[in-house]
Amino acid sequence: MDKKALNGLFRPKSVAVIGASNTPGKIGFSVVDNLIRDGYKGKIFPINPTSPEILGLKAYPSVSDVPEAIDAAIVTVPAKIVPAMAEECGKKGVKGLIVITSGFSESGRKDLEDEVVATGKKYGMRILGPNIVGTLSNSDKFNGSFAPCLPLAGKASLISQSGALLIALDAATYTRKVGFDKLISIGNMSDVDFADVIEWLDDDEDTSCISLYIEGLKNGRRFIEVAQKSKKPIIVLKSGVSAHGAAAAASHTGSLAGAAKVYGAAFRQAGVIQAADLNDLFNRTQAFSEQPAMKGDNLLILTNGGGVGVLATDSAERYGLPLKFAPEDVQTELKKHMPEFGSAKNPVDLTGMAGNEWYYDSVKYAFGHKWTDGLVVLYCETAVTNPMEIAQSIQKAIVDANIKNKPVTVSFVGGERSDAAMSWLVEHGIPAYGAPDLAVDAIAALHEYTVLHAKKHTFDFTSDAKARKASLEIIASARKDGRDSLTEIEAKKVFKAYGLSVTDTQLAKSEDEAVALAKKVGFPIVMKIVSPDILHKSDAGGVKVNIKDEAGVHAAFITIMANAKAYKASANIHGIAIQEMAPMGTEVIMGSVNDATFGPTMMFGLGGIFVEVLKDVTFRVAPIAEDQAVEMIGEIRGAPILAGARGEAPRDRKALAETICKYSTMILDLQDEISETDANPVLVYEDGKGLKVVDARMILKKK
Ligand code: ADP
Ligand code: MG
Repeated sequence: MDKKALNGLFRPKSVAVIGASNTPGKIGFSVVDNLIRDGYKGKIFPINPTSPEILGLKAYPSVSDVPEAIDAAIVTVPAKIVPAMAEECGKKGVKGLIVITSGFSESGRKDLEDEVVATGKKYGMRILGPNIVGTLSNSDKFNGSFAPCLPLAGKASLISQSGALLIALDAATYTRKVGFDKLISIGNMSDVDFADVIEWLDDDEDTSCISLYIEGLKNGRRFIEVAQKSKKPIIVLKSGVSAHGAAAAASHTGSLAGAAKVYGAAFRQAGVIQAADLNDLFNRTQAFSEQPAMKGDNLLILTNGGGVGVLATDSAERYGLPLKFAPEDVQTELKKHMPEFGSAKNPVDLTGMAGNEWYYDSVKYAFGHKWTDGLVVLYCETAVTNPMEIAQSIQKAIVDANIKNKPVTVSFVGGERSDAAMSWLVEHGIPAYGAPDLAVDAIAALHEYTVLHAKKHTFDFTSDAKARKASLEIIASARKDGRDSLTEIEAKKVFKAYGLSVTDTQLAKSEDEAVALAKKVGFPIVMKIVSPDILHKSDAGGVKVNIKDEAGVHAAFITIMANAKAYKASANIHGIAIQEMAPMGTEVIMGSVNDATFGPTMMFGLGGIFVEVLKDVTFRVAPIAEDQAVEMIGEIRGAPILAGARGEAPRDRKALAETICKYSTMILDLQDEISETDANPVLVYEDGKGLKVVDARMILKKK
C-alpha cells in the first residue's frame, strides 16, 4: 500500500466539506465551524448546492466547481447520496474521503458502503469510515470532525472504532492531562483499517506512541504483522471480551477459546500492550508517549514514606517486575541522602525528613546509575515539604542526570497541592499518578514492551504436502458420507500423517472382529464407540479402558453398544475402536480453532477431567515456532508439573514442543477444511520417552 496516499486524509492541505451548512446543529455546520475555529491552515471549500457562502467562506455547488485541487473531502450528506458524491470526488482527483455519514453497513446498507469503496478503488481514493466522527490533528490545527475541540496537545495518537468514545476522550484529555496529536475515528473500516493507520502513524513525526480502541478487527493477521513492525509502542483497549461464540463450540478448544483469549494472544504476538479499561489506556498512553521502554529489569523505587514504598513493592511483584536489592555502591551513596533510620536497600526510603535536596541528590544519582533500568519516585505529602518544590527537584534531577534511554514514573499521594505538582510534572514530560500502584503499573508496561519485542513472530511456515494430500482424502471421504466431523480413527490418521504420536487404533464392526483385533494389538487394550453422532464418548459410556482378555472384549463390546444406543437411539454407529492402552502419563490438551479474525489459532494446556474447570490453557495464533511452543509450555500455571514437581521426573517437554509445532503445521495446512480440533488428552511421559495422543477430534468447516 502507498502510505503517502493517507496523507490526504490525515494531513490534508485542502478540504472540501460536502454538506456544509449555515444551520447550527447540523454536522455540516460543526465541521466547517471547527475547521475555522481551531485554526486549520489549509484551504476550506464548503460544498452546498444552494448557499453561495457558508460561515463567511465562499461555497461551491459541487466539488467539480472548486477551482483548486482537493486533498480530502469530508462527507456529511445522507448515506443514499454518498455514492454519487464519491464518484464526483473521484473524478475531481480528491485523495481521500472522510465519510462521517452513518447509515451504511452498521444498519443494513452494506451495498451503499461497497459502492463507495468500489469508487474509491477505481480512482485510487482512500475512504475513512463511514460512520465516524472525523479526524483531528493538533500539529496541523486540523479539526476535520464534529468533535468540539482539538485534544490537549501531546505526542500520542489515538485510533478509535467508537465515535462516541472518541468525542468523550477528546474532552477528557484536558482533565486527565494526557495529550494527543491525532485522534482518528475509524468507524466501519470499509477501506482504511487499523493496520493502514498504524502504518501511517509509524512514519508520522508528530506521533510517539499509538493508542487503539478496538471493538473488532477485520484482518487479524495483517494487524499482527503491521503492529509488530511498528517502531512505536502500541497500546490497545479491546472491548467485547466477554464470552463469545463459546457456548456452541463443539470441541474443548472451542469452549475454552472465546474472543478475549484469542485477541489477548494475538496482541502479545503483535507486541502490543493491552489496557484493561479506559483509565489504564490513559495511564499507559501517558507513560509511553513521554518515556522510553525499560530495557532491563532492575527497578528502583525511591520514597519518603515506608507505606507507599511497600505498596509499590507489592505492585512491582504483581506486575512481574519484582524488586531486587540495590548493589552496595548504590546503597552506600544513597545512605548519604537520608537520616540514619532511612533505608537504601530498595525500596529506598528517604524517610519523611526528605526535602528538596535529598530528593534531588538521590534521584539524580539513582537515575544516573548504570544498575538502574527504571525508576519510580514516590512522595507522600508532609507538613514540612512543599509538593511543587519536590516535583521541581525531581524533574531537575532527571534532566541533570542527562539519561535518555530509561524511564521514570512518579506518584504523589496527597491533596490539592500534590495534584498541582503532578500536573506540573506531566507538563514537563514526567508521567505522574495519584497512586503508587499506577506509577509501578506504568513502568511495568514500559518493561513489558521490551519483553514482548524480544520475540518476533513470523507467519512463514512450510506445508507438509504429503500429509496434506493424505488428510484431504480422509476429509473428502467423510464429507461424501455427509459428515462434518471426523471419527477418532480418521482424525488420528490425519494426526499421524503430520507426524504426531498417536495410539494405534482400528475399527471392529463385530464382536468377533473386536476379539481378533484385540489379540493383534495385544492386551491390555482400550475400546471406544465410533460414531459421528457421539463426539464426547465417555459421556455416552462409550469408553472402556484396561481390558485384559478376550472375555473382557466380549463384555465391553456388548456394554458399549448398549450404552451408545441408550444415549442416542438414532446414532449412526460405525463400530468399536480397538486401541493399544497407553501407559499412564501427565495429561495435557492441545487444540485449535479457526478464528474468524486471526485464522488458525492453537491452544495448549493442562488436560484431564478438570480442564474445563481450571482453564489452565494458553493460546497462540499459528504458525508456532519451536521457541514459542517452549514458551507456551512454560507459561501455563501447571508448568511446574511438567518441569517435574514434587520429586517427579520432568516430562518430555522437547517432544511436547515438537508436537505443538507439528500440530500448528497441520491446522494451517488444513485451514480451508477444518474449524476446530483437539487432542485431549495427550499423555506425556518422562524426559526422552515422548508422548501419546490417545484421543483426537476434528470438526470440519461446514460447506
Ligand atoms: P472422550 O474424550 O470422547 O470421552 P477419550 O478417548 O478421551 O474419550 O477417552 C476417555 C479417557 O479414557 C481419556 O481421557 C483417557 O484418560 C482414557 N483413554 C482413552 N484412550 C486411551 C488409551 N488408548 N490409552 C489409555 N487411556 C486412554
Ligand atoms: Mg477425550
